[in-house]
Amino acid sequence: MLEDKSVGLTPLAQLGEFGLIDRLTRNFNPSATGLKVGPGDDCAVWEKNEKEFYLASTDVLAEGIHFDLSYCPLKHLGYKAIAVNISDICAMNGQAWGILVSIGFSNRFSVEALDELYAGIHAACLKYNVLLLGGDTSTSVQGLFISVTILGSVSKDKLTLRSGAKKNDLICVSGDLGASYAGLKILQREKSVFLENPSVQPDLVGFEYVVERQLKPEPRADIIEALSQANIIPSSMIDISDGLSGDLTHICQASNSGALIYQDKLPVDHETEKVAEEFTHTGHTYALNGGEDYELLFTVGLNSFEKVKDIPGVKIIGHMQEAASGIQLETSLGERIDLKPNSWNHFVS
Ligand code: ADP
Ligand code: MG
Repeated sequence: MLEDKSVGLTPLAQLGEFGLIDRLTRNFNPSATGLKVGPGDDCAVWEKNEKEFYLASTDVLAEGIHFDLSYCPLKHLGYKAIAVNISDICAMNGQAWGILVSIGFSNRFSVEALDELYAGIHAACLKYNVLLLGGDTSTSVQGLFISVTILGSVSKDKLTLRSGAKKNDLICVSGDLGASYAGLKILQREKSVFLENPSVQPDLVGFEYVVERQLKPEPRADIIEALSQANIIPSSMIDISDGLSGDLTHICQASNSGALIYQDKLPVDHETEKVAEEFTHTGHTYALNGGEDYELLFTVGLNSFEKVKDIPGVKIIGHMQEAASGIQLETSLGERIDLKPNSWNHFVS
């Protein structure tokens, strides 16, 4: 008789993505190796020389989970795979230097298709001045996956971790939020219309901005440059890949702080609002819970207020508070509600 091997085992959904990472990495001792930051921030950090640290991060994109090739062109996918990694380097206030690219694919892909993927990778490398260092190539039974590892550096005095936010620090965000999720909703809708009736062509008119934000995100290296020009070193920073509520929670947990943000101050593009309304949602829920914005969420001391308020594309959305006060959103009606991280969680959904 076959034994049921799952008896007594923990289902993945019980831990969730971040619980799982904590469990898998808990027995490693980063301090023993001289590492400055191990698992838990946007990049690992270790000594380069007297003045700089090295940075490294890795991200995997899997077909059917992170992208759908029925509406994501391979060239855009290649670009995005690099962009999201550069974003993690930006989140440490650093500069990207080189990438290693590993791909796995089945024989349903042609040489020309992989050329397209690499044309996107090349375009991102050119735009952000990043070198291709190497990688690995494998076949895969089903689906395409791309794993990119990025290396960079940061001067020691500029290194910004998730853990440095202090009570009363201003919470700032770049660009606008929720657009990538709005773009995804539109692409998914047009795909289902097409599957029902292949003679109907996708209609993306009026949704160009949100669709571009989903398919071709840009890391905010320009904001890192603007902060440097303004002589601002944030007290903490993260890139928004999982949605504002989830990523603000990461800053709060790492900094052992609470936060208060204001619904009326959340930057939401009018196209995002329009899409949210079409789906009977609201723009601010997309901003809080959508994913893949790749904007920067950072905190600065109150003494940087005059400098930060003048940086184009940066908005102050709230301030840090005591941990005991929790992570809160003040609604347009002046009511304070606890913000629950409602980020993407592959294992639960
Ligand atoms: P990001 O959203 O910035 O890419 P993640 O949420 O993917 O970051 O990961 C959070 C932290 O956990 C990072 O420091 C990452 O290096 C680490 N991490 C993620 N998965 C693993 C794993 N399988 N083994 C070890 N560390 C991991
Ligand atoms: Mg990140």
